[in-house]
Amino acid sequence: MPELPEVETIRRQLAPLVEGRTLERVNILDARWSRPLAPHELADALRGREVERLGRRGKYLVWSLSDDVHLAQHLRMTGTVLFDPDPEPTHVRVRIGLDRGSRLVIVDPRRFGTGELLLGGEALDAFLHARLGPEPFDERFTVEYLQTSARGRTAPIKAFLLDQRRVAGVGNIYADEALYRAEIHPLRAAGTLSAEQHARLREAVIWALQAGIEARGATIDDFRHVDGVWGSFQDRFQVHRREGEPCARCGTTIVKLVAAGRGTYVCERCQPPPRGARVDARRRSGRRRNS
Ligand SMILES: [Zn+2]
Repeated sequence: MPELPEVETIRRQLAPLVEGRTLERVNILDARWSRPLAPHELADALRGREVERLGRRGKYLVWSLSDDVHLAQHLRMTGTVLFDPDPEPTHVRVRIGLDRGSRLVIVDPRRFGTGELLLGGEALDAFLHARLGPEPFDERFTVEYLQTSARGRTAPIKAFLLDQRRVAGVGNIYADEALYRAEIHPLRAAGTLSAEQHARLREAVIWALQAGIEARGATIDDFRHVDGVWGSFQDRFQVHRREGEPCARCGTTIVKLVAAGRGTYVCERCQPPPRGARVDARRRSGRRRNS
């Protein structure tokens, strides 16, 4: 799934190509994309408007159009936006014709992506505010914020990071990389982290996302850039998807476990498991006696 760095990469590539351009033709081919509006209702609201600004908030790509009309686009699992693709790709959900002959194509094989219409800046702010916590690069994302919002929470810290209402934009890849860098086990209860660990985690989240943006995102599954080129952050993964490989810091074999319902990769020497998690890991690997 595209996370903050992948969405930001798309935004940076696309913004200079679309800002100031008019959406002349809008053809929504999949009613799931425009829900709750019918495809023609959403298309009518977008058609003829100029793109004033292409922004991003969390994993949303925010199209701000003339007359204070906004489209909050979420790519979900496999969505992407291609500019003037050649040849025509498969799994096209939306086709948009711009002035001067260019076109945008929204591709989404798994069809979970959405485009939601917001009329007015206030409606946009309310929509995003209800769904998203602070941006990791925002000054509101402080150690104190992390401590306060984690206080008393028994859910694993990984689940906390994946919760978009806590911090916007972090998904499975960048959560694993940040927790490894901060030397915190993903199954640690969020409320049990020390102030120093919260400080390390904050720094690590920002570092991982920044490194991801610099590498133009990670290419796994179907993520593609606007121009069809792939990002390279997957080559810099320290722990994610490296099960069975030695940890770069200590040489211990990286293991895969499940945290927050997601495949999660850890070095259990650098990231000491909380009491109980180690037992679970032994059970999973089938070494329990009398079993
Ligand atoms: Zn290690």
